[in-house]
Amino acid sequence: MSQKIFIAGEWRKGRGDLFVSRFPADGSINAELHAASLEDVEEAVNAADIAWRAWRGRLAHERAEVLYRVSDLIKSRSEELAALQTRDNGKPLAESRGLVASAAATARYFAAACETLEGELPTQRNAEVMTLSQYEPLGVIAAITPWNSPIASEMQKVAPAIAGGNAVVLKPAEATPLLALKLAELFEEAGLPKGLLSVLPGRGSVIGEAIVCHPKVRKISFTGGTNTGRHLAHIAADKLIGTSLELGGKSPTIICEDADLEQAVKGVAYGIFSSAGQACIAGSRLFIHRSRYDEVMTRLEEVASNLRVGHPESPGVHLGPLINEAHRDSVAAYVERARQEGACIRVGGEIPQDEELASGSFYLPTLIDGLSHESVVCQEEIFGPVLVALPYDNEDELIGLANDNVYGLAAGVWTADYRRALRLAAILEAGTVWINTYKTFSISTPFGGYKESGLGREKGRKGIQAYMQQKSLYLGLNHNPNPWCD
Ligand code: ADP
Repeated sequence: MSQKIFIAGEWRKGRGDLFVSRFPADGSINAELHAASLEDVEEAVNAADIAWRAWRGRLAHERAEVLYRVSDLIKSRSEELAALQTRDNGKPLAESRGLVASAAATARYFAAACETLEGELPTQRNAEVMTLSQYEPLGVIAAITPWNSPIASEMQKVAPAIAGGNAVVLKPAEATPLLALKLAELFEEAGLPKGLLSVLPGRGSVIGEAIVCHPKVRKISFTGGTNTGRHLAHIAADKLIGTSLELGGKSPTIICEDADLEQAVKGVAYGIFSSAGQACIAGSRLFIHRSRYDEVMTRLEEVASNLRVGHPESPGVHLGPLINEAHRDSVAAYVERARQEGACIRVGGEIPQDEELASGSFYLPTLIDGLSHESVVCQEEIFGPVLVALPYDNEDELIGLANDNVYGLAAGVWTADYRRALRLAAILEAGTVWINTYKTFSISTPFGGYKESGLGREKGRKGIQAYMQQKSLYLGLNHNPNPWCD
């Protein structure tokens, strides 16, 4: 049976092409759906443009109430949602459970932010006027999401936008439409008025492009590749609308000479190999102080070769499949390129040979060294379980190397010396720096990239204001306020 999509508050068959959602572990079909058409985009955006005007007038606690209910619904269905996420994108169940919990927490957080959002009373310049600055919604938001962490990244956009009084037209990634549609079901059940959320699966270059280019769309909130982000920024510039762009990364992790090596090695392995490396924040470049290089590499070899690659629904699996074969081939091609450039493949570097993994797009955790930092594998985002290690001798050299990349999303520092940690954190060109931990998140802490890793920040109390605009009011206090032509 064809899965329906959510257009302007109605569940309908999309009028676009037939899409198939497949389980990356074995290629079996999860669902078939007809994607949205250009007419569906028109209908969704027009309905959204009407719906937000009524929604903005609702009391903040009424808007928050819907998000609290969504959060509760997610929690009560967390196993079902995690299982669906694992079918849709192949993440091990434990990771999918984490993302579902994060989506519930995000809805709750922005409900609270919505209820407690305050305007500002700027300092009076004189007794002539009193000024107020209030936050108002932007209108219709285009939310475009990638396939690697669907439910969490979708909630990260939908919750603050809806809390801020806007309507959202969400286009999930081609490969993973199911969680976004499930979220729409939960928002509907929670009482979100019709038209405020539409979920339009479809091809990015057609349906995504039509949504962001629509004249009634007032902001683009995008997570995905840097090239697509740059393209969307051009569209936004032409329309003079804002963007929030969460893009790629090639994040450095640093193990200093005084680090607790056991913890550092576990953190590095988690940072790159969890989600099979399909994370914008993956710590994919490892810099190790030369005095500890051999010891760290020996430990890492051991950890990486003992990770369990397998069926994502089986307990205890560390790495599931990559999203699809085309992506697995792209990861394999990077490793091949590294071989040609003279790399030493210390662990992995191939497709697993196990019979039961043969029909999925699996790739082994891979540890590489022996390359110069200019090599393609050290510079480009691979988005797979591939870690490249390099030794360094001193901090100046380290900083030069760590910052020598177009991206600036995240960085990790492992050291026992907090002065060194803070010194490095200050100089690393990254939107997030983890110190003696990696890939841990808090919804109350802003997230976003430096350099080509993005523009704007998501999460945190100001996350809601990213979907709002300020309006200033002047209240005249003088009985003859404008005596110019007296
Ligand atoms: P990835 O490499 O993760 O697939 P993309 O940037 O291609 O990264 O895709 C992220 C999201 O952006 C997906 O939902 C995709 O369909 C969408 N997308 C791709 N191209 C466009 C476009 N021109 N306009 C709007 N959305 C797009």
